[in-house]
Amino acid sequence: MRINIFEIPEEGLEQDIDLPVIINNDRKPDNVFVRIKLLRFGTKILVQGSAKTTVSLQCSRCLNDFPCPVDLEFREEYTPLGDTDTERDQELYDDEMGVGFYEGDEIDIAELVKEQVLLAVPMKPLCKNECKGICSKCGADLNEHSCTCKDDHIDPRLAPLEKYKELLNRKE
Ligand SMILES: [Zn+2]
Ligand SMILES: [Zn+2]
Repeated sequence: MRINIFEIPEEGLEQDIDLPVIINNDRKPDNVFVRIKLLRFGTKILVQGSAKTTVSLQCSRCLNDFPCPVDLEFREEYTPLGDTDTERDQELYDDEMGVGFYEGDEIDIAELVKEQVLLAVPMKPLCKNECKGICSKCGADLNEHSCTCKDDHIDPRLAPLEKYKELLNRKE
């Protein structure tokens, strides 16, 4: 989804878009509902809006897929790529506002939305806070059933503590 900056009228351009965005390269695109407003000041474009979607993430403990709702707002200022004033100006921007660049006459909205969604999802997603993960020996999903391996399962949340205990034991 690209928007030609010269098609942005004086009063701004407002659009509601259903945008398929590929968050994870080996999955099908997630549909993102985007509400966007573009304002043009000469060659500078202010893009603000909101995005709502549910992305399918893989739990970092049990490796199961789970739906993760994302609801975010963004505000980004675009300047033409190679505009030498921009670097100097950047110090004036507040941290809340992102600064982007566009090439030619078009701004890639899909790319912007993808970036925003990626920033909003957790780096190490968990299907639930108390996810027990999988057994490191037999691979059983410990959320669904316990396995018959010797019960030396370490709760991943306590793992650092176990390490600490080990260190103490070694010192003795
Ligand atoms: Zn999980
Ligand atoms: Zn096991």
